[in-house]
Amino acid sequence: MTPRLWAGGALIVLLVALIGFVAVAVPWHRAPAPRADQLAALGQFPADQVARSRAFHAELRPLSYAGMLLGLLIALALGLTPLGARLVELAGRPFGDHWLARAVLGGLAVVFVAELLTLPLAIWRHTVVVRYGISTQTWGSWAVDLLKSFGVGAVLGGVVLAAFFTVTHFAPRWWWAFGAAGAAGLVVLLSFVLPVVVEPIFNRFTPMADGPLRSELLALAERDGVPVKDVLVADASRRTRAVNAYVSGLGPTRRIVVYDTMLTEATPGEVVSVTAHELGHAKDNDVLTGTIMGALGSAVAVIVLYLLGSWTGLLRLAGVESIAEPRAIGLLLAVTTVAGLVAGPAQSFVSRRVEARADSHALELTGDPATFEAMQRRLGTVNLADPDPPSWEHAMFASHPSTVQRMAAARAWAQGAR
Ligand SMILES: [Zn+2]
Repeated sequence: MTPRLWAGGALIVLLVALIGFVAVAVPWHRAPAPRADQLAALGQFPADQVARSRAFHAELRPLSYAGMLLGLLIALALGLTPLGARLVELAGRPFGDHWLARAVLGGLAVVFVAELLTLPLAIWRHTVVVRYGISTQTWGSWAVDLLKSFGVGAVLGGVVLAAFFTVTHFAPRWWWAFGAAGAAGLVVLLSFVLPVVVEPIFNRFTPMADGPLRSELLALAERDGVPVKDVLVADASRRTRAVNAYVSGLGPTRRIVVYDTMLTEATPGEVVSVTAHELGHAKDNDVLTGTIMGALGSAVAVIVLYLLGSWTGLLRLAGVESIAEPRAIGLLLAVTTVAGLVAGPAQSFVSRRVEARADSHALELTGDPATFEAMQRRLGTVNLADPDPPSWEHAMFASHPSTVQRMAAARAWAQGAR
């Protein structure tokens, strides 16, 4: 059997595993909250506040779409013309055209050019979120964040590029197998280390101060049967007025993080409600589920890239001989950008189902739908979320159910529990 046949076989096996896993792990069956309850929830928001959040999103919307379109056009220009290959050659020239220099420096150059060209939109976006009082960052602190994320991206990207092209260089026929295993392994590794290695670069995390709230949260976790060593508070207020909480990490690095803004903006009862939602993610192992989907998905992506490599028309457009050579990095960017845009709505759909499950968990655990609803109203109000966004936009991009859907779900739960 040839490597191509093996790759085809491996692709089918991985796709079956991915589809099977998604089918089993995603909580598909959640009756949507009645629309009448959603509209009643919407009625709880003052009209001027809804208008203000809609005006905010109306200003952000063209920037988001322009960003997506521009990102796509840049990736296509770098990947489906010889521009990307030319850029990689240029980056490797001072190093005698060595393949490793082309891989790492060329790869970073391609990504950096794409980032740089979309930077004006990011700057514009910052002016909007500052004007609406969501961001509290000065331009200096915003720029430091940007440089930090470039730094993190360069280190991580450099390692990935070096590893990937070392494999394609030394195993030109079987790189897809090592690449697929490596990509899956990397996703798992990142889930473990991101909260302890990368997140602290951007925020300081401190254990929640001793007091009645901390005791209540730890008791809640205990009652839920979810071992939590600590609840961490992130110094989000140095950047934003928005309130949030999340769970990240796996096993020993698993943590529940609450924004410090949450502690100043929300009532203790609302913090309990948010934490109960996060405990739902922990209890249902949602981080692990996401990691497994990500690992299978990235292994699939590597094999698809390998198989696309025999499409000579595509290679000719990019001006390269093989998809596995560093000069093809622009082509890789184009393919992954298109794949990301196509996969986005499916990922959002899965995410909304998982979030709805965490919401029901919070309701079950606290038995307090009124506070849950108040917490959702607070989140929506402080974060200037559109409580009832346009439905197609919600379907395409939203990672969470809308504010009115979540409030209505709490009402439905209350009626069911009564
Ligand atoms: Zn959540």
